[in-house]
Amino acid sequence: MKTVRQILASRRLRRTAAREQVLLCFLSSDFALSQHDLEEALPSFDRVTLYRTLKTFTEEGIVHKIPDDSGIPRYALCSSCEPHEHHHHHVHFKCTRCEHTECFDRLYVPNISLPEGYRAEEVSLLVQGVCPRCSDHSNSK
Ligand SMILES: [Zn+2]
Ligand SMILES: [Zn+2]
Ligand SMILES: [Zn+2]
Repeated sequence: MKTVRQILASRRLRRTAAREQVLLCFLSSDFALSQHDLEEALPSFDRVTLYRTLKTFTEEGIVHKIPDDSGIPRYALCSSCEPHEHHHHHVHFKCTRCEHTECFDRLYVPNISLPEGYRAEEVSLLVQGVCPRCSDHSNSK
């Protein structure tokens, strides 16, 4: 696992308190975070700062945006993306009970052949269901 400093240095990003704190949140979280999650975890930063930090991280290939049907985008760390070049087509899972979204880094979206004339720029697959933590809960009740 890379450290906050290594990640920022690899993108030649200046170390600011906001960038370090936001990255720490991602590194210590098992699931994807929305801007709202970050606002709650880091009340000392204003929304604009957090928004800009997320935008920078997304552009630099540090985090990727996960589409969500609720309209609230969530973000998760990238494993091997380059600045301005995200290359992962992995599956995302959203638990309908705890509402946590996770990356399945080793589970890929199947190749889809589009009709002629169409070019895919982004492919995403969001699976919704119940995560192991939540299904354990219901069993013990
Ligand atoms: Zn990425
Ligand atoms: Zn769950
Ligand atoms: Zn992901």
